Amino acid sequence: MTTYSRRELLGLLGGAGVALGAGRPRPNILYIMADDHAAHAISAYGSRINQTPNIDRIAQGGVRFTNCFCTNSICTPSRAAILTGQYSNKNGVYTLNDALDPKRNHVGKELQRAGYQTAMIGKWHLTSDPTGFDYWKILPGQGVYYDPIFIEGGKQTKYQGYCTDLIGDFTLDWLKRRDPKKPFFAMCHHKAPHRPWEPAPKYKDLFAGRTIPEPDNLFDHYEGRARSVAAVQMKVGENMNKTDLKTDIPADLKGDPLRKWAYQLFIQDYLRCIQSLDDNVGRLLDYLETERLASNTIVIYTSDQGFFLGDHGFFDKRLMYEESLRMPFLMRYPGAIRPGSVNRDMTLNIDFAPMFLGYAGVKPPAEMQGRSFRANLEGHTPRDWRKAMYYRYWMHNDPDHHVPGNYGVRTERWKLIYYYGKPLGMSGANPPDTAPEWELYDMRNDPREMKNLYADPKYATVVRDLKAQLEKLQRDAGDSPA
Ligand code: CA
Repeated sequence: MTTYSRRELLGLLGGAGVALGAGRPRPNILYIMADDHAAHAISAYGSRINQTPNIDRIAQGGVRFTNCFCTNSICTPSRAAILTGQYSNKNGVYTLNDALDPKRNHVGKELQRAGYQTAMIGKWHLTSDPTGFDYWKILPGQGVYYDPIFIEGGKQTKYQGYCTDLIGDFTLDWLKRRDPKKPFFAMCHHKAPHRPWEPAPKYKDLFAGRTIPEPDNLFDHYEGRARSVAAVQMKVGENMNKTDLKTDIPADLKGDPLRKWAYQLFIQDYLRCIQSLDDNVGRLLDYLETERLASNTIVIYTSDQGFFLGDHGFFDKRLMYEESLRMPFLMRYPGAIRPGSVNRDMTLNIDFAPMFLGYAGVKPPAEMQGRSFRANLEGHTPRDWRKAMYYRYWMHNDPDHHVPGNYGVRTERWKLIYYYGKPLGMSGANPPDTAPEWELYDMRNDPREMKNLYADPKYATVVRDLKAQLEKLQRDAGDSPA
């Protein structure tokens, strides 16, 4: 690996160095990402169901984004989009089964070339081994919660302990032995709170005897919605198993009573997993403070996508509804980002890589499709910032969840979704209903997305306009219709 002194680097970057600020060294970047942690289970986002005091420290010291969205709501593709700054159709990672091509450029490689020391610790989930990281220590595939195996330098080792705590330990270990003369870019990727929501032993009784509030649409029965949405197999209770609930499902429980019963078991375990995440965020923040690194380290907390927490009666993600589409995104950078600020700009997971490069003084390569939101973070939203976003989920043939392929557009006011049914040549029986269908939601008057307005003639003009926007966004993303 070629390394550059700061002076050499600024010479290489030409004028880009000026943007770094007068004499301020390039920031370290600590990127903490959970797996399936919905924003509405973070107290900084107004959670009604739990408290996350350490994650909230990032929001208090920085900015909270309320409209940060993923472009394909599922683990592997979102991770690829974050690294490459590209939509799935461009980076080739469409589904859980696709590997990130090790030869493909990404933000880790760019930062490495710019003189950062780079580390990737925890859940990688991109099938191929990481490249572009000076150090990596990853879970094989999804990994497990208890006594997990990690892969480091091609060697597998089993560790005693709880996965979230171990990922915290390994991140701290690396920070302690890094070269303090170079800025760092560390990706700390947790497994939690992914299914099957297995908590640390010390939290197994947290919430015991308590009733966690239910979402107002837990008993959604999908009236007026696309039939393929009603057929989705992500329903709390009905589509859960003994591994999820850690107990047998009583044979006489059906319908809404089953959903109500299973919701408490599921959500309590989910929140217990988050408690360990919060603890480990606190450990990292404490380390930065103790080592006097906090003032020059960007800290981010996010998740690879959102998650349904019983909303619409669902768990999991994949659909374009808000709870799944929205990523929590908190970022702190003292002196540059105003503490306790809130930003409502529409930002996407493909914007993360260009934003990191923006802070490192590196011009994002042309193949990155996202746009740096450094100015937005610092309270200066560009006038031409996007007002609409493009989404596409490709995993038509998942045998477990039965979510049909879909794409759509979300603007500040509206959301239009197209479920295009089974594509030609696809085998298997899923999804059961393959007729193309549309949904339209008014996000101002119906933020819970309960009333599909698509068939209402009053909205014909809105639909026509949104279809034109969708077509343009799809073309701009380099994608084509189903
Ligand atoms: Ca995920």
